[in-house]
Amino acid sequence: MSGWNPQVGPPGWGVQAAYTPPVIPPHDKTRGLSPFGMPARHSWEIPLLVVVVVITFFAYLFALVELFFGDSINDYLLILILAPLILWFGRGTNYATMRINGVKMSPTQFPEGYRMVQEAAARLGMKQAPDAFVITGNGQINAFASGHGFRRFVVVYSDLFEISGAARQPDALAFIIGHEVGHIAAGHVSYWRQLGMFAVPFLPIIGSSLVRSQEYTADNYGYCNRHVGAQGAMQTLAAGKYLNTLVGFDEMADRAPQEKGFFVWIVNALSSHPVLTWRMWALRDRSRHGKLFLRPDAPMMPPQPPPGFPPQGGYPPYPGGPQQYPTGGFPQQPPFPQGGYGDTTQFKRPI
Ligand SMILES: [Zn+2]
Repeated sequence: MSGWNPQVGPPGWGVQAAYTPPVIPPHDKTRGLSPFGMPARHSWEIPLLVVVVVITFFAYLFALVELFFGDSINDYLLILILAPLILWFGRGTNYATMRINGVKMSPTQFPEGYRMVQEAAARLGMKQAPDAFVITGNGQINAFASGHGFRRFVVVYSDLFEISGAARQPDALAFIIGHEVGHIAAGHVSYWRQLGMFAVPFLPIIGSSLVRSQEYTADNYGYCNRHVGAQGAMQTLAAGKYLNTLVGFDEMADRAPQEKGFFVWIVNALSSHPVLTWRMWALRDRSRHGKLFLRPDAPMMPPQPPPGFPPQGGYPPYPGGPQQYPTGGFPQQPPFPQGGYGDTTQFKRPI
């Protein structure tokens, strides 16, 4: 059959209905904290980035003035002046290390991970998926994203990658891969961004808080990519790849508002990642951004019944009448056999 208009279809076919994209619930449209739509940046990320970039710019300016007009130059000034080169060299060697030592994910090498990276890149609106590598973790649970030039890549430590093994926790790995790919999609690993944030290690609290807000942003990306994996990922970060399933996610998240004091505040303020209890809280309460400086203090509202419930005058009687317990109690269980259950050694496995 030929000569028909593909927009209309073959002769005799009805007119095709136009494609209607799925409607995103209005309350999810802008928040970016739900699995719907696109993920949001943490509300503190851009304000803190502006502060850090301005400070870094003046630090570069100060170093240049000292270089040309000052009498002496110290190590810190030298690091600042050479920052563009140091950063370029560090990123280049890091990428090369992965290219020559890492196990590169491909359709034939860790195909599940490869697929997750491709899917995450597509879900998060990237034109090109990053390279992805697995390297040995030596027990460490970690993953990171970086880049060099226009290349971008994700590295997952083997101890973290193992949580995805068949029938284990692929959702948790998809969350983490979404988090790392999210760092790339959000622009956290670009050369210019990192050059603008070069002073971060020298800026206690301000610098670490910017990095922390980026982690919350990346968690939003991970949540958007595979929200059902958030819990498993946090459990693994908390207790490792073997005990992860024994961690009570809610019990740990509930401790976020309970643990108080100056030292709790300072440990979080100096951390590069949100402290785990706060991070879990943020991944559970998706109605607001994660807490950056002050512990979550508002208890989460318990679910409320819809208006009109319970009905006035109580519920109508259950159809068929109330369940009755048997009069005279339940029938007695047969007694245990006298002398026990006999020889059970037949059930023992030979050693
Ligand atoms: Zn991260």
